[in-house]
Amino acid sequence: MALFSRRHFMTTSAAAASAALLSRIAVAAPQDPVVNALVDPKKKDGKPVSREKVSWKLLPFPMKQVRLGDGPCKIAMEADRQYLHSLPPDRLLHTFRINAGIPSSAQPLGGWEAPDCELRGHYAGGHYLSACALMYASTGDDDLKNNANTLVAGLGKCQSQLKSGYLSAFPIEFFDRLRERQRVWAPFYTIHKIMAGLLDMYVYCGNEQALDMTEKMAGWVAGYTGPLSYDHMQRVLGTEFGGMGEVLCNLYAVTGKEYYLEVAQRFDKKAFFDPLAAHRDELKGLHVNTHIPQVIAAARYYELTGDRRYRDIAEYFFDEVVSERSYCTGGTSNGESWNTDPGKLSTELGPSSTECCCAYNMMKLSRHLFGWSPDARLMDYYERTVFNHRLGTINPEDGTMMYYLPLASGYWKTFGKPFDSLWCCTGTGSEEYAKLTDSIYFHDDNSLYVNLYIDSQLEWPEKGLRFKQETRFPEEQGTTITVSAKDPAQLAVNLRIPYWIQGGSVKINGTALPAFSSPSSYLTINRVWKTGDKIELSLPMGLHIDAMPDDQTIQAAMYGPLVLAARLDPVKKEMSHGDYEPKPGDQQKVPDITADPSRPTAWIEPDGKQPLTFHSVGQAQPLTMVPLYKVIHERYAVYWKVNNKSV
Ligand SMILES: [Zn+2]
Repeated sequence: MALFSRRHFMTTSAAAASAALLSRIAVAAPQDPVVNALVDPKKKDGKPVSREKVSWKLLPFPMKQVRLGDGPCKIAMEADRQYLHSLPPDRLLHTFRINAGIPSSAQPLGGWEAPDCELRGHYAGGHYLSACALMYASTGDDDLKNNANTLVAGLGKCQSQLKSGYLSAFPIEFFDRLRERQRVWAPFYTIHKIMAGLLDMYVYCGNEQALDMTEKMAGWVAGYTGPLSYDHMQRVLGTEFGGMGEVLCNLYAVTGKEYYLEVAQRFDKKAFFDPLAAHRDELKGLHVNTHIPQVIAAARYYELTGDRRYRDIAEYFFDEVVSERSYCTGGTSNGESWNTDPGKLSTELGPSSTECCCAYNMMKLSRHLFGWSPDARLMDYYERTVFNHRLGTINPEDGTMMYYLPLASGYWKTFGKPFDSLWCCTGTGSEEYAKLTDSIYFHDDNSLYVNLYIDSQLEWPEKGLRFKQETRFPEEQGTTITVSAKDPAQLAVNLRIPYWIQGGSVKINGTALPAFSSPSSYLTINRVWKTGDKIELSLPMGLHIDAMPDDQTIQAAMYGPLVLAARLDPVKKEMSHGDYEPKPGDQQKVPDITADPSRPTAWIEPDGKQPLTFHSVGQAQPLTMVPLYKVIHERYAVYWKVNNKSV
């Protein structure tokens, strides 16, 4: 996509690096959210211990210090919370119990958790635990924490029964098939979700049993992988294995047992990492969501060892995917894969472009890169993906989630069934909407960074400060931040000035500052803050175009950070829930646009009365356009063929 051309990204990263003369945080602190708020159980003084070799230049706040206020993010979070509450522990435990020989009369879940699905357990004993742990951190929801604790205890009984540390809802024989290279879906993918879920329950909810269970599982993984030769293990890595490397790295970060790092490295897929380390894009033909988690693992490995090769892999990969293989929404993948050479996207629009898990994992990766080198452009990407691919792919009515967000015009949104879908994307979605608090604010010793304009409140007890951000963004083109300070405090407040801004200004206590900052940068306001101080940031939006990199006449229209979609025919209720995506050929026909392709304002104008509503101008078929995230029950069109009148 044009805004993320590789050349542009490289030059601005260099500029940002020199601009970011940020004081490194003096004490190596836990930096990843996974180890955020972590206390070493073996240390009597209860102080956090860090094993990070590379400290993030900026750190996120623990999620419990950030609370969402009213707005589209809170609506998504509450829908997710309601959905998590609807899943009873006994139903989640059912297939685990059956597999461990423990009687269960609970009604089995369906979809990817059905008793005959080879991926069973990925959500019930994995994503669900992560989501509850994150939701507890974001909201303090004790009932959800208790449900998750009940689940951990139930899973603990299954693990004891299975002996050997193995814990899964499917038989251990699946791993024989994996070793023999016989047909099996993705056993390690599922094991990763369960280990990550348990570790999250330890990190965010302090469940010690969950840590013990994670270590037992890691012991089993070590025992399985240890006897395999390097080449044999590389063949095993031909089957999707999720973030095994990442969770083992995190387990090392938590326990300090270096052995886990060694086991983590067994999940380095050479055929994937080597070209990335050499800055070669050999991504064509790869299954996308199999590979992004491997790069997150590389990022964690770099942080814990300082091995620069892994940073190179992560940065090159991210840059390549965002600049050459991502759509206007920030999403990537078509039919779960990268099918083309870099930059060839105009032929890659279909009912199954783009998978939600990919957006989740790319956002997660971007936070690591931001921690190493706090470039506003990374948070521009994050915002783009939150507002276009994450909001609007959860059904606000019942918390069900999407698998693919179709970007070919004329299709519609398909949400899962509450108990009978439980896809991979239900899992990553359940986690996503539980952690919308985790990237709004970052900080270092002397500065606050406001990355996202989301109504929220931040507590910073170490500084005796509280920040209340009030905004109806994106309906409101700006935000107001009010300070409460125990004592007046010196602090640099850095506000992200987004790539899309058209003008803009800031006022402190009603007085406009004479200076502003350029798009894709941070505006720094360094002063002594006291209670009642008010920052009013104006963020004017305008229409702009996001054209396909290989065909400038195929365009999406954007307004500020928002991808606009035309509302087409309504869809019937039964079409809204069910299969992963609409069938190819089921799309409503969409007209071409006749206008000057270089000027979005030539064919779109604001409604004037309703916010974030637009109308086509001078087209044979009148169109009404709204942000894509607001379209739930209608067919829609995002990309248009725009032909110049003179052609
Ligand atoms: Zn998925």
